[in-house]
Amino acid sequence: MKTNNILLFVSLVLIFFCNTLLYGQSAIEPFVIMIDPGHGGRDSGTPGTGRYKSTEKDIALDVSLALGKMIESNLANVKIVYTRKKDVFPTLRSRPDLANKKDVDLFISIHCNAQPGKKGTAYGSETYVLGTTKNKQNLEVAKRENSVIALEDNLEVYKDFRSDSPEFLLGLEMAQEAYLDHSIKLARLIEDEFQTTAKRKSRGVKQNIFYVLAYSYMPSVLVELGFLTHLKEEDFLNSKKGKQLMTKSLFVAVEKYLEYMNINSAPTSIVKADTKEQVSGNITFKIQIAASSKALETKSYNFKGLQTISRIQDGSLYKYFYGSTSDYEETKALEQEARSKGYNSSFVVAFKDGKKIALIDALKSKAN
Ligand SMILES: [Zn+2]
Repeated sequence: MKTNNILLFVSLVLIFFCNTLLYGQSAIEPFVIMIDPGHGGRDSGTPGTGRYKSTEKDIALDVSLALGKMIESNLANVKIVYTRKKDVFPTLRSRPDLANKKDVDLFISIHCNAQPGKKGTAYGSETYVLGTTKNKQNLEVAKRENSVIALEDNLEVYKDFRSDSPEFLLGLEMAQEAYLDHSIKLARLIEDEFQTTAKRKSRGVKQNIFYVLAYSYMPSVLVELGFLTHLKEEDFLNSKKGKQLMTKSLFVAVEKYLEYMNINSAPTSIVKADTKEQVSGNITFKIQIAASSKALETKSYNFKGLQTISRIQDGSLYKYFYGSTSDYEETKALEQEARSKGYNSSFVVAFKDGKKIALIDALKSKAN
């Protein structure tokens, strides 16, 4: 009975996801990012060495709020929602629940790390995506971050979260498979920026079973900014400059992720100014109408009668495009046509010499 329930659940999730991929992608609707400052209220997270009043929950909140603010004031068409905006205690369950309910496109949970004991030699950042692992050290981090469950009143809701059950893990992997590529992409970008922008030591992208990632049905990452049990790193993460550097790194990573996803998040004023220019070089525009893990024939009968369909493979996904033009002005009519066929949230993407580039770069390069 239990297996059946899991399989039914996984199937429903997969069906829902495939439908979303084939029939809808957000371009006009804002791209929604949920920022989840770890812990809060009576759950302080790691206290670090004990030299500071602030604990993990405070640093996570400071960096989360600063990141949200930076994104909202610099990127257009992106909406930020938080799991908490002050020192309160949202249950572990409520965080992914809220993300699913609000139709969030990307989930970022922010934490600080700790070594057992009050002080330690380990330092550096880690970014986690969901995945099963036998790595003992990663397991310790997951145990610590999930352990807040014990502080909660209603333990009943967690009885299905059995990270020791192979059945549970298999269901989880299947349900999350579709998002994993994008989660890993963002995780890599974040760890790269911690190294280059903040000049920190990166311990890399890792996988484990985190509750908040397991139940978020969207690309999601859990960031460990650094170790509060490491004297120097604790000083850094408590400093204004340290928080700023980590925030900036996260911001740049998100910006690059949106670019990679072809989400047009450039401030609208720039785009408008540029579209009046003439297109030059080998830039072509197409309308992305769908993405799917299935490789469909680019025949019109597969695409509601639309002709001139092209397909590219991007990671584990196939992306489907309608039309091709070097004139940006023409894309409006193409987009409208795709929408009239039911591809309601299709959007314009740009290619340079056959390679996909960010739309903003295509529009910019015309001006040069
Ligand atoms: Zn934490």
